[in-house]
Amino acid sequence: MKEKLIKQLNHSYSPYSHFRVAALLQMKDGREFLGNNIENASYGVTICAERVAIFTAIAAGYHRNDFASLFIMCDNEKIGMPCFACRQVFTEFFLQDMPITVMNPNGESKTFTVAELCPYPFNEDDLK
Ligand code: ZN
Repeated sequence: MKEKLIKQLNHSYSPYSHFRVAALLQMKDGREFLGNNIENASYGVTICAERVAIFTAIAAGYHRNDFASLFIMCDNEKIGMPCFACRQVFTEFFLQDMPITVMNPNGESKTFTVAELCPYPFNEDDLK
């Protein structure tokens, strides 16, 4: 896991922040999807590594609740947490008890459930 994420950090396109992030998404059927952050000169269209991995899985035909676990690595001594745009996407596709592990290249990590990261989600129920 750690080595796959470290390798994926090299795909980060982060010429503005120089903050490299990689994500690895495990599906319930065992398939894995990798992602990395992709920045843009128009900062607002930058996309995080987690969302690249999730959207790639969705584009490959997976659906809500097909996801087993997510691992995120920031190329930093500090263990970075997912931003709230990503947390909103987690609530769209992940079950509340799905584990999300955040780690650094040294292998230090913390694991949370979706419910812990997204305690009061805005979701389809709010649109009724
Ligand atoms: Zn994010």
